[in-house]
Amino acid sequence: MPELPEVETVRRGLEPVIVGARLTRLRQNRPDLRFPFPERFVERLEGASVERIDRRAKYLLAALSTGETWVTHLGMTGRFTVDGEQLGEFEESAPIAGKHEHMSFCALKEGRVTRVGFADARRFGFMGLIQTAQVETHPWFVSMGPEPLGNGFSAAHLAEVFDGKKQSIKVSLLDQRNVAGLGNIYVCEALYRARISPLIAAGKISKPRLETLTAVIRDVLNDAIAAGGSTLKDFANAEGGQGYFQHRFDVYGREGKPCLGKPCLGEGCTDVVKRVVQGGRSTFYCPSCQRR
Ligand SMILES: [Zn+2]
Repeated sequence: MPELPEVETVRRGLEPVIVGARLTRLRQNRPDLRFPFPERFVERLEGASVERIDRRAKYLLAALSTGETWVTHLGMTGRFTVDGEQLGEFEESAPIAGKHEHMSFCALKEGRVTRVGFADARRFGFMGLIQTAQVETHPWFVSMGPEPLGNGFSAAHLAEVFDGKKQSIKVSLLDQRNVAGLGNIYVCEALYRARISPLIAAGKISKPRLETLTAVIRDVLNDAIAAGGSTLKDFANAEGGQGYFQHRFDVYGREGKPCLGKPCLGEGCTDVVKRVVQGGRSTFYCPSCQRR
């Protein structure tokens, strides 16, 4: 499933093409994705100009000249293509056209026409149109915590929302009300880099360690964005479901493999990565490097 860095990569790919462009020649090839397309979807987009494109957690939000915001969630296999080229690299590439392309349009900007398509083989993605003034109070967004890369995300914020919490730090970081858009892979990686045990109660973590954690979360996400969100590869994983492996992951997906950590003693860690299930999701961690 695309996580925040992959969605941000797609946003950055769409931005130069659609911001300032007029949307024309819209096509909608089926009534629904995971949910039905909005009523009169094509009509409401046709002729509109895109004023900006933002990302909130894993949602893309294109603010239109019509006063509406066009919201897209990529689900698991949602992919945008620009003139036939897929934006971002994912474990499965998008069919450029054909039965899995569910909508398309042309972006007209400075006399240039660019064709943009949206394909979604498994159709877990969805699109919506929301009054721009009502985006923040919409059910999809109203209870979301701050963006991990935004100004509202800080050790002070985490200290406040984690105060007295007995829930594990791992599960707490996946709770979108505490911080928006963090997925399983990046939470595992961040806790590993911050050397915090995923098993510790969120309310037990000291302020200095929360300072480290917030900085590390930003680093992990920025590194993945800098890599173009391009390093996820399909692999048959131990959870028996779909999983993703990235060569650059330090801990995620590395159960039973040697820890890559180099603890302060100047010697490499000799422990192996362990996997536990927390909140129904796999957690990968090093019991030696990640302290309680
Ligand atoms: Zn270790």
